[in-house]
Amino acid sequence: MTVFQQHNLLPSDGPVQISEAQLLARVRELAYEIRRDYEGKNPHLICLLNGAFLFHADLVRLLDMPLTIDFMQTSSYGDAKQSSGEVRLVKDLSFPLSGRHVLLVEDIIDTGITMNYILRSLHERGPATLRVASLLSKPSRRKVEVPVDYLGFTIPDAFVYGYGLDRAQQDRNLSFITSQK
Ligand code: 5GP
Repeated sequence: MTVFQQHNLLPSDGPVQISEAQLLARVRELAYEIRRDYEGKNPHLICLLNGAFLFHADLVRLLDMPLTIDFMQTSSYGDAKQSSGEVRLVKDLSFPLSGRHVLLVEDIIDTGITMNYILRSLHERGPATLRVASLLSKPSRRKVEVPVDYLGFTIPDAFVYGYGLDRAQQDRNLSFITSQK
C-alpha cells in the first residue's frame, strides 16, 4: 500500500466521519499527485459550485505552480437528498477551454449523472485534456460510469455534509464531513 492509499481508508461500518486533519492530509496528497502530473502545463481548475468551494480553495492553495481557475454551477438536487436526474446549468464558465489542460474539481460523485452531463458539455469546448478530481465518491450508487482521476475518499451510501457540502443549504461551513443526523 502506498502512502496515497492509506488516508483513503475509512471505517467500513457506522456513520461517515472525516476529520479536518484527515481532509487536509488527503487534499495535500492529491495536490502532490496533481502537481507531478501537470508539471509545465499551467492547468485550469474548474470548481463546481457550490459543494466543491472549500476543496477547490484548499487544493489550489497547495498547488505551488502556475494555474488558472474558473467556476461553474449546475443544479439537480434543490434541497432534496436524492438527485432529480435532470441537470441544469445555473452558472456557466467565464473563460474558454480551448487548448487548456482542464481539471474539474467536484465535491462528490453519487449517481454520476451530474459529472456525465458536465463532461459531455466541456468536451465540446475543445480542451487539450479533461480530468476529474472528486473529494468523495459513492460507487454503490452509480447509474452512469464516469472517470475519476483523483479521488479523496470512497464512502458508503450515506448522505454526508460539511466541508462545502450542504444539508438543505446549511452546514457547508463545518470543517469536517459527517453523515450523523
Ligand atoms: P450525482 O449527479 O452524481 O448523483 O450527484 C452529484 C451532486 O449531488 C453532488 O455534486 C452534490 O451536490 C450532490 N450530492 C450527492 N450526494 C450528496 C451527499 O451525500 N451530500 C450532499 N450534501 N450532496 C450530495
